[in-house]
Amino acid sequence: LNVLDGRAMAADMAGSLAARTATLRESGIVPRLAVVASGAEPAVESYVRMLERGAKRVGVNCATVWLPATTDARALGRVLDELSADPVVHGVLLQTPLPAGIAPAAVAAHLSPDKDVDGLNPLSAGRLQVGQPGFVPATAAAIMEILRRAGAPLTGAEAVVVGRSLVVGRPVAHLLLQADATVTICHSRTRSLAEVCRRADVLVVAAGRAGLIGPDAVRPGAIVVDAGTNATGGGLAGDVDFEAVAPVAGAITPVPGGVGPVTTMALLRQTVDAAARGVAVG
Ligand code: NAP
Repeated sequence: LNVLDGRAMAADMAGSLAARTATLRESGIVPRLAVVASGAEPAVESYVRMLERGAKRVGVNCATVWLPATTDARALGRVLDELSADPVVHGVLLQTPLPAGIAPAAVAAHLSPDKDVDGLNPLSAGRLQVGQPGFVPATAAAIMEILRRAGAPLTGAEAVVVGRSLVVGRPVAHLLLQADATVTICHSRTRSLAEVCRRADVLVVAAGRAGLIGPDAVRPGAIVVDAGTNATGGGLAGDVDFEAVAPVAGAITPVPGGVGPVTTMALLRQTVDAAARGVAVG
């Protein structure tokens, strides 16, 4: 009963997005997302296929550029420059992992901030930090969407984020701060992790460690959002020990079926926002 159903939330978001893209199409705008991905990891292909299906469902055209494993940073930069300059493309997603030897930070500046629908460009990150409008990493946007739909009170709440990556931990911490929560960020060097987590009214976990968070780390009644996706023998597992924590938590996202599907829709929503802004600008 206290399980936050990410698939249902995503379905609802898909409905609103489909209505928005229908209106845009009537005015001659077809929202278009370009995905740039490397086939280095098998999980990427299934993720990209899922994204393409989601895009189709909401009326966003989605085309994927598959990079050969031998692509270097300069060639990838050129691909991103071209997509950034292409007037029919509204959003560009650079899917990680990148081909061997390329750090996202080395190429992210090639994403136009106007099309950076996963908030990877340092300018997007800076805008988030100073509180200016801009695109944010889709997973962080999804976590905030889930909290909003869960009715989680954030003003003055104790929020603890486990993980400080550029794609999840840090941006969601900034968004929680913007929502007037009191935010603590934990990482691999944090002392007494469970004790710090127990302070949380809202606990967001994005560490990439299956079972990291057990019931001893959760205050009874806390809202727990688990962004972790860890491949285990039996499928996908989160960072939270769901079976043990669910009875303690006030509400909790499952894995799979929690943050993941909402992330896809958050990314598509930012793409539709980018397309709609194009209309406003003329
Ligand atoms: P990441 O870049 O590897 O960052 C992991 C963070 O967790 C780091 O800040 C790390 O600390 C911290 N950490 C690791 N082990 C820890 C421990 N034992 N105790 C406390 N903190 C610990 O990973 P990421 O890209 O943020 O992804 C995190 C998880 O979210 C992964 O499972 C990933 O698959 C998942 N994810 C899901 C989505 C989605 O849409 N659902 C999207 C993106 C990522 P240090 O900084 O000290 O190393």
